[in-house]
This record gives sequence, C-alpha cells and structure tokens, in this order.
Amino acid sequence: MELNYNELNIEKRAFIDGEYVSGIKRETMSRRNSYDGYDLSGITACGHEDVEIAVRAARKSYETGVWKDMPLKKKKEVMLNLADLIEENRKELAMLDTLETCRAFQNYYEDSLPKAIETIRYSAECIDKYYDAAIPPQKGAYATINRIPLGVIAIITPWNDPMVVDAWKYVPALLMGNSVILKPAEQSSLSLIKLADLTLKAGIPKGVFNVLPGYGEIVGKALGMHNDINGIFFTGSSEVGKMIIQYSGMSNMKKVGLECGGKSPFIVSRNCHDLKRAAKILAKNIFYNQGQICSAPSRVIVERVIVEEFVSYLKEECEEYVPGNPFEHRNKVGCIVSKEQYQKVKGYIELAEFEGGVVYQAKNKKEKVEGACCIQPTIITGLSNNARSSQEEIFGPVVSVIEAENLKEAISIGNDSRYGLAGAIFTDDLNEAYYGANHIEAGLVHINSWGEDENNTPFGGIKESGIGKDRSIYAFDEYSQLKTVWMTFQGI
Ligand code: NAD
Repeated sequence: MELNYNELNIEKRAFIDGEYVSGIKRETMSRRNSYDGYDLSGITACGHEDVEIAVRAARKSYETGVWKDMPLKKKKEVMLNLADLIEENRKELAMLDTLETCRAFQNYYEDSLPKAIETIRYSAECIDKYYDAAIPPQKGAYATINRIPLGVIAIITPWNDPMVVDAWKYVPALLMGNSVILKPAEQSSLSLIKLADLTLKAGIPKGVFNVLPGYGEIVGKALGMHNDINGIFFTGSSEVGKMIIQYSGMSNMKKVGLECGGKSPFIVSRNCHDLKRAAKILAKNIFYNQGQICSAPSRVIVERVIVEEFVSYLKEECEEYVPGNPFEHRNKVGCIVSKEQYQKVKGYIELAEFEGGVVYQAKNKKEKVEGACCIQPTIITGLSNNARSSQEEIFGPVVSVIEAENLKEAISIGNDSRYGLAGAIFTDDLNEAYYGANHIEAGLVHINSWGEDENNTPFGGIKESGIGKDRSIYAFDEYSQLKTVWMTFQGI
C-alpha cells in the first residue's frame, strides 16, 4: 500500500456549529511526533471563549430538536452513513493517527478503524430494538419508564486509540439524542477533526457534533465546570478522572462517566497445561501498541512451581513485538506516543532495577531512525506486588512477573491494586476458573483468553478504573436518564 504522508491535506482547526474555525484567540499547539520529529504545529488550541460558543451551538441544536427528535429510523440511517464514510476514509484516518501518535499504521488500519466502524454499525442497529420499560398493567393506573437524553454532553478522551475509544462514547451519546462536544487529547486531534466533517456529510445536523482541540487544563476543565453541560464522559488517567468528579461537584452536578487506568492481573495456575499459549496471549496483549492500552495485562501472577517455564516462553514470545518504524506497513509495533511518556516508561524500568528487580528485554532489533521513542518489550522478575513498578500504571511495554505460592494467593495478589479494569485466569481446572471469575475484582474477567471481547459486551472498570460502561446496549444507559410517566385512569 502506497502511504504518502506529504500528500495528506490536514485540517487542524476546531469544528463548531458545523464549521471549521481557528478559535477566537487563534492560538495553536506546537508539537513534534515521537518517531521522526514530524512537525505537528498549528493545531488549534481552543480557549474559554470557544467553549462558550460551542456550548451555545450545541444547546441550540438540542433545543430545536433537529437531531434529538429525528425519527429513530432516520438517526440509524445517518449513523450507518457515517460508518460508510469512515470506511471510505479509512486509510487517511489511519495515516493521521499514525502521524500524531506513532502507533503502527498497520494497527490503525487493520484493527482500530474496522473496530470503530463495527461499533457504529452495531450501535446503530441496536437503537430501534432496545425498548424502554413499563410497569405491569393494573386497574386505574399505568406507568412507563422512559430513557431520555441528558442534553448537551462533553466527551474528553486520551491519545492511545482515538477512533475506537471515542466511538465508544460519541456513538451511543448521539444515538440517545444528545448534542456532543468532543475534546480530543493534545497528542491525537487530527483524525477526530477530520471525523467532524464526516459527521456533517453523513447527515448529523450542525451544532450536534463539535470538536474542540486544546489543552486539558483549559478546554477540559472549562467543559467540566460548565453549568450548561449536562454530562461529562471521560477516558484517561485516574488522576484526571478524579478531577472530573470534582468539576461536576463544583458546578452543576452534571452526570459523570469515567473510563480510567488499569494494572490488570493475568493469573496463571499450575493447572494451565498449555503455558506456551498463555505466554503468547500475554505477549500479544501487553506488548501490542508498546503497552499503551488501558486494559493491558501488565502484572502476571504465576504459581511458583511453573514460573520458570512460563517466563522462558514469554521471553520467546516478546520477540514478536519489537518496535520499529510505525509508517512502514509491515511493522505491527510502532513507538511510544511522546518523549515525555518515553522518559516516564524508561524511568519505571530503571526504578524496577533499583528496587532489586531483574530486567529482561527482547533481543531482536528493528530498523528505525535515530532518536525514535521506541522501547523494547520488557519483562521484570524478582519483585513483589508492593514494588512501585508492580502497583503503578506504566503504560508501556513492561510486564511485571510476580510469584505466588498457590492460586488463592495469586488472586489475592491480583486484587491488591487500586485498579479494577480487567483480569484473567488461565487454568484447565473448571473449579479454579469459576473461582477466578467470581473473585477477580475487575469489570471484565477473561478465562483462558484476553481481549477477544466484542461490541455486545460492556467494557469498563471498577475501583479506581472508573464509573460506568462503554460498549454494548448498556452504554445507551450512560448517555440517558430515566423519567417515569405515571398515568391514572378513571375507567369508563
Ligand atoms: P490523561 O488523563 O492525561 O488525558 C486524558 C484527557 O484528559 C486528554 O484529552 C487531556 O487533555 C485531558 N485532561 C488532562 N488534564 C485535564 C484536566 N485538568 N481537566 C480536564 N481534562 C484534562 O490521559 P492520557 O495520558 O491521554 O491517556 C492515558 C491514560 O488513559 C491511561 O491512564 C489509560 O489507562 C487511560 N485509558 C483508559 C481507557 C479505558 O477505557 N479505561 C482507555 C484508554 C486510555
């Protein structure tokens, strides 16, 4: 496939009320990418004034009912158009995300974009099949329990998989009839700016979908604190997630949804007989995208009697995920998103060594430019679950191997974390699998698998990994509220 990045026609402005605008103050962000230093300067940095204008436009579009009151059949058709338009622009959208985040083009093109398209199609197909409720009939009275939109909602998202993570939010939000203001991460605005134009072409009326690129502390905070926004839905770190709750409390108590960080445990029992398969699945899920995935299994807890054998397989498997040039279509792993994130991950690896851990890194090397922010797949052994590298979210290609005496201890180590996003148990013993499913504290537990969950199941954490769920029909509940309509009848 021919990938000519110089031929991309890149739109860098905000999208408000159906038009691209440079922002009242015409300020921009400056940044270079983390692979070859490509200059990404000039993306609009919105300010408070732009937030005001966008909220007014979104409110107006909501109040006129131009989208909210559109018949379900028509809304579904519009969203299916959007899926088709994304498919038509798949290559360009994947290139934009690669240019900014330096994740491998192959990942975006072959995995993320198809997933985003599928999310839209799945949700659009659900919208006229997901019924509201009513009480059982009784003499003289009847009640319906209706899901109604929230109104104007804000969505704030991270950089690690813009097309997918954002679709999980804006798709159910729009389908429930809300008007949306989306603030992408500073490191991944371009594909979402492009998406805005596609929403208009698909038939989403102006003002209903707005994109405000800019800094979190300015645009994100202004959205969180705004009194005319009815809901704020955030994906990102737990630290910022906690701020979002505060913004809501300090303003109008807007509804909050949070998808935050993780330190997910991958538990391997002595009764797992195919340890090589388990190691293969672990390597794929922690080293893919250089470990920059919220639900990546970054802690593997293994029964002591099998740890040596398991780690030897993991060392073999990690060679598959050596990073290289993200713009080269054949490469399945690109770089860390930024210099700052690269330094942070390296810092954790050094810290693990300082804390007494043994650090192993993949041996293969791929061709890449000097100074590229790539980190070799890294396995840390010899540390307990109390080490900082075992407790804190590194968000890099680093897995900590922690030993346990038996399976019960492994699960209790797995649960000893502030996070609760995902978890897994690998075993051939049905009783152990059942025990694991019931005792692992996570929003999503995998048995003998990882990451194969689909659109028809909810995704989201417990504990400090978040509040609420993305994906599946349950996501519609997040972007709506219940209204009871009680009717009394005299009889005839
Ligand atoms: P981040 O929390 O730094 O930023 C996320 C978003 O919040 C960005 O758009 C940023 O601009 C904005 N933001 C930053 N400061 C803000 C503030 N003070 N007020 C309002 N908004 C603010 O996270 P990140 O570094 O972009 O992404 C990595 C994190 O995201 C990791 O912790 C990862 O686990 C998490 N994540 C979670 C999921 C999930 O579904 N649970 C998915 C992807 C990423």
